[in-house]
Formats: sequence, structure tokens, C-alpha cells
Amino acid sequence: MTAEFELISRYFTKASPSARLGVGDDCALLEPEKTIAASMDMLVEGTHFFPKADPFLLGKKTLSVNLSDLAAMGAKPRWAMLALSMPCVDEDWLDAFSKGFFEVAGRYSVDLVGGDTTRGALALCVQIMGEVDAELALRRDRARAGEDIWVSGTIGDAALGLAHAKGEIRLEDQDALFCLSALHDPVPRVELGLALCGISRCAIDISDGFCADLLHILEGSNVSAEVDYAALPVSHAMEQYRMESIGESAILSGGDDYELCFTASTDNRSAIEDLGHALGIRLTRVGRIGAGKGLAVLDDKDRRMVIGKAGYEHFG
Ligand code: ADP
Ligand code: MG
Repeated sequence: MTAEFELISRYFTKASPSARLGVGDDCALLEPEKTIAASMDMLVEGTHFFPKADPFLLGKKTLSVNLSDLAAMGAKPRWAMLALSMPCVDEDWLDAFSKGFFEVAGRYSVDLVGGDTTRGALALCVQIMGEVDAELALRRDRARAGEDIWVSGTIGDAALGLAHAKGEIRLEDQDALFCLSALHDPVPRVELGLALCGISRCAIDISDGFCADLLHILEGSNVSAEVDYAALPVSHAMEQYRMESIGESAILSGGDDYELCFTASTDNRSAIEDLGHALGIRLTRVGRIGAGKGLAVLDDKDRRMVIGKAGYEHFG
């Protein structure tokens, strides 16, 4: 039986140049230069991932979904803490998991500065911390009537990948690869979030479903929105499903996209288009913010579509 501290030093202790003190003491010591943006996301076996999920990809996703929250705030990633609960010590699993985790950490210059390790059901919880200029942070309560609504990348692919994995649909090989990678290996839009500071005031990452997450902006900002269904950006894999109910629900309410939905003044349209080209990220204008309340998704004849469940809710 490997002692807990041995596991920590073998798998979770790396140099953390951006911290005054990292893993090993009772607390980490961190010295921020700006306002700290802090967030936490937990992945639980059976709820967020399949029991036999690939540990390397799980390590990547555990950190990526947290980075997505920093991206949605326009914050620069700095530090992470990892709480790990697992039923037994499986060194192969830990090795692969930590390699995945540190691959993403290295990519975004995040230092793992502490955590906790205990026995229990498999659950992975990360606290992420980044830095942001508080005046420029992309907040859910900053959308204004008259602004455009934008979406990065394509949406619904992870939900389509999940439907494929469950055998509900049968995707072509290339499409299946693409959608399964969207599901298991999402890429957080960190560079986009950082670049949007100053162009946008308001963003959210699409983790629970496009409608559900846009509704958080509408409630937070006390505004309404109109979205054109036909404008919502979808992948090649999604094209054939877009007018079917399985595609419609994946696009409107599928979770796990980790794209950004943001609002911006119409004056910034060309700046945002330029930014998309510079970053190589598809940025699509999908609707507009209005006064009043509520979300209307319009079909190609401008009729209001009936939206089923807006998104994933754990206790819904
Ligand atoms: P304590 O008993 O003070 O809570 P622990 O034995 O839990 O200390 O942790 C020892 C050190 O290892 C601490 O610095 C803690 O932050 C770190 N640590 C524990 N588990 C992890 C982990 N999974 N990833 C990174 N650091 C960890
Ligand atoms: Mg502890």
C-alpha cells in the first residue's frame, strides 16, 4: 500500500514557478498581481464520465472544464488545486490521469499548487485560480439591450458524440471521431476569453446547454434575447441532424460544449471578426439582446420555436 504522501509526491508534485510555495506545506502561498478569479468544478464517476473512462483524457478534461470557466471570465490561468477521491490506489490510472492533467496545465501555464487525496468514490475536483482586471472581467450581469450575441466554435457536438456512444445514433467514422473528441477532450477557449476583454463585457461558457447558459446571462443582466436557430454554428457532423429533434436538442440544450457565448456592441462586429481570424476560431453572430425578459429562438420563418429542456440540471 502506497502512502498518500508518496502518491502526492510521485504524481502531483511539479515545480510551480508562479507560486511562492506550492505542494507540500499546509497551504500554498500565492502572490497575485491583479484580481483573483476563482472557480471550482467537480467531475464524478457515473454523473460526468463513464466508469471506464480513459484516465489520460479524464485528467485533461478535469482541468480543461475548469479553464473554461476562467476563459468565460476573461481571466489568465495561474493556479490549480486538485481534490481527488478514489476507491483504491491504481498506479497505472494515476500515472495516466496526472499525465493528462499536466499536459493541459503546461499548455496554459497553470501550476498545481495543492490539493487533497482521500479514499472514496471516484471524484475529481479542481479549484482553479486566474487573474483578471476586475473592470474588464466578462460578467454574466453585463449584457445590454441592443448588443449582438456571439458563439465560438460549433455547438451540440459533445451531445451528438454522447448519443453516438450510447448507440442512439450512428455517426460516420470521421464524424464520430470529431464528436467523441468534443465530448472527451474539450478545448477551453482561454485565448479567446483573454482577447475579448475590452471588446465584450459579458460571457458565459456553454457547459449545461446553449439555451440554459444564455438564460443565465439574461437573468443576470435583466434583459431578453432573440436567437436565430439557422445562425447557430454547427459542425459537418451535425449538418444532417440539425433539422431533426435529436440535433435540435443537442444544439439548443446539449451540455459539455465549452464554447463561449458572449455579447458585444454592434460597433465591435469587425473587431470580433478580425479576432476570430487572428485566433483561427469560428465566431458567429447568432442573435441580439433586447429589453424585457425571456429567450426566443426563431426558426427560418421567424416563428418562435418551442424549446424543451433548456439544458442539463443535476437536480432538475
Ligand atoms: P494536510 O494533512 O495538511 O491536509 P495533505 O497530506 O492532505 O496535508 O497534503 C500534503 C500536501 O500535498 C499539501 O500541500 C496538499 O496541498 C498537497 N496535496 C494533497 N493532495 C494533492 C493532490 N491530489 N494534488 C496536489 N496536491 C495535493
Ligand atoms: Mg489534506
